[in-house]
Amino acid sequence: MWFRAHNPLELLPAPRWRHAHEQSPADGDSASSSPRTALVTGASSGIGRELAKILADHRYNLVLVARDRDQLLTVAAELESRHGITVTAISKDLSSAEAPEELLGELRQRSIVIDVLVNNAGFALGGEFGSADVSRTISLLHVNVVCLTHLTRLLMPGMVARKRGQILNVASIAGFYPGPLTACYNASKAFVVSFSLALANELKGTGVTTTCLCPGPTHSRFAERAGLSRSKAFSENVMESRVVAEIGFSAMMAGKPMAIAGLRNKLRMLTIPLVPARILAHFSRRYHEVRRGNARADARIQKNAQRSKAQT
Ligand code: NAP
Repeated sequence: MWFRAHNPLELLPAPRWRHAHEQSPADGDSASSSPRTALVTGASSGIGRELAKILADHRYNLVLVARDRDQLLTVAAELESRHGITVTAISKDLSSAEAPEELLGELRQRSIVIDVLVNNAGFALGGEFGSADVSRTISLLHVNVVCLTHLTRLLMPGMVARKRGQILNVASIAGFYPGPLTACYNASKAFVVSFSLALANELKGTGVTTTCLCPGPTHSRFAERAGLSRSKAFSENVMESRVVAEIGFSAMMAGKPMAIAGLRNKLRMLTIPLVPARILAHFSRRYHEVRRGNARADARIQKNAQRSKAQT
């Protein structure tokens, strides 16, 4: 059906699911038989780790991917012993162009078929574009955009052929406005929002859904790694990773194309179309500037940093 929708003339040959670069349904067509398997990128901390735990609560077998092997093994051992599920930990740097194909190769080798793909791995770089390290900027685009797109392209055809599957792409509310001091991050998340919504439309009627989760500031390693812990954005109204993950999981299970995490973020998103982009850029810059010389803000920042650390 998916193929027909994209081939209105019905003149092209049927898709060859066994193409070397795509996961084939024959790689383990489990039809409706359980258990199902979910692949979560960026599962070593924060929102990804919480999503992995929630999926384990729902008895999904898991493939966890990130660079930090020790963290992945710790999470894998905990979830296996608590839930009796199978957890495969794959340590991989997703900023490498070869990573998605290598990952697919490892899945094939282990005869693992992916029913749920969670594209969660991502990071930001705080500071002006012109002063950021070039290789870190390119890595950001690889992890946040290229890897997410490539993995989706590799795993989606198998889901469509099996007529079932869910894809959860973790974007950000930052995808809705330009972000001075996090320029490439906001632009990368704008890609994820646009890509996910387009895909959700293309996949209608196939049994496969795409959900775009848009968190706002959330406790995790994210802010510290981006150098944003002392920004206004992370000094107030920071959500817990677990709550954000629950929102994403529920939206994915309901087949919703989009989920904005938290009422405050939803209200903020409602006003965005009403404000000219250059004004949004002005306020976004203030949002990411480091706060100084305000004792109450300093105390809040310290408290938030401790809570984020406690979750890593
Ligand atoms: P986090 O605690 O820093 O987690 C990021 C995850 O991505 C980690 O597991 C990290 O694993 C993985 N990752 C980063 N670079 C990678 C690479 N090169 N290769 C493989 N894995 C990599 O931050 P988080 O908040 O949970 O972030 C999860 C997602 O939420 C990201 O896409 C982020 O953009 C989005 N988000 C976060 C916030 C927020 O305020 N926290 C807000 C909006 C959106 P390793 O370091 O072990 O590789």
